[in-house]
Amino acid sequence: MPRTSLRLLKTWTELRAWRAAQNSARPVHLVPTMGALHEGHLSLFRHARSDQGIAIASLFVNPLQFERKEDLANYPRTVEEDCAQMEAAGVEAVYMPDLADMYGADGCQILLDAGPGGEHFEGAARPGHFGGMLTVVHKLFQRVQPQRAFFGAKDAQQLFLVQRMAHDLDFPVEVVGCPIVREDDGLALSSRNVHLSSSGRVHALGLSKSLVTVANSFDKGSRDIEHLNQQLNTSMEQSGVRVAYANIIDEATFLPLDEATAKPGQRWRAVVAGRVEDVHLLDNRYLGTA
Ligand code: AMP
Repeated sequence: MPRTSLRLLKTWTELRAWRAAQNSARPVHLVPTMGALHEGHLSLFRHARSDQGIAIASLFVNPLQFERKEDLANYPRTVEEDCAQMEAAGVEAVYMPDLADMYGADGCQILLDAGPGGEHFEGAARPGHFGGMLTVVHKLFQRVQPQRAFFGAKDAQQLFLVQRMAHDLDFPVEVVGCPIVREDDGLALSSRNVHLSSSGRVHALGLSKSLVTVANSFDKGSRDIEHLNQQLNTSMEQSGVRVAYANIIDEATFLPLDEATAKPGQRWRAVVAGRVEDVHLLDNRYLGTA
């Protein structure tokens, strides 16, 4: 892995100067993160370095997207290790502002509204989460002015909404979705996995297993939404996951499907979330064209 020297940009002023100095022959590729990096993030950095990309990461734990104070306080923070991993992965710069640099001394009063695609699932489980997430991504797009931005399919609804925001609000940014990175046993990597005990980790496998179960049913020809939803729920409950939601969605809208709205030709994805040991975990899997 080629090493670069990672530039630490702590303020918007430093970021602006760095951005202006970049060679316009190479595209700037942004990877937004909240730190506590793992292989999932590192895969995004690899994608960002493709096509001669100048990879810049952001590292900012965004209070606007946490609805529970204790989740924000407990969010793992490993800044030094994160910077070392970024440097080893060939990231050229990291924008790591503090709260005042990001939102100003008097905070942020204007928030984006995620619209219908943000009403369900994480949007319902975590009120305010997507408005806060979109607001900070909007600011990062404005400040970094990337040609492309890379997001993980692990947070499928987030990816959908950022793509929708770039489209609806005229950002000249290509928002690229990257595959979910999993442990060998199927558990999707997440910064929150460090909070699981070894037995909690076994329960957490219920999410990815439920997705494999419905993918098998789909592959065998089942298009019965109620049955597929039921399979997701049962499989997770049996593994000891406190289910927050488990649904088949239409990828074009990120709305839950039912017997009335399911149509041939739609691209179906299964999305699941639940709590294990009070840790909120999510996962999803593309099923195919109905
Ligand atoms: P976070 O630091 O949790 O805000 O995540 C930063 C980015 O990493 C987001 O685009 C996530 O979707 C992505 N990400 C997190 N976990 C994974 C994973 N297991 N595989 C791929 N991307 C991931």
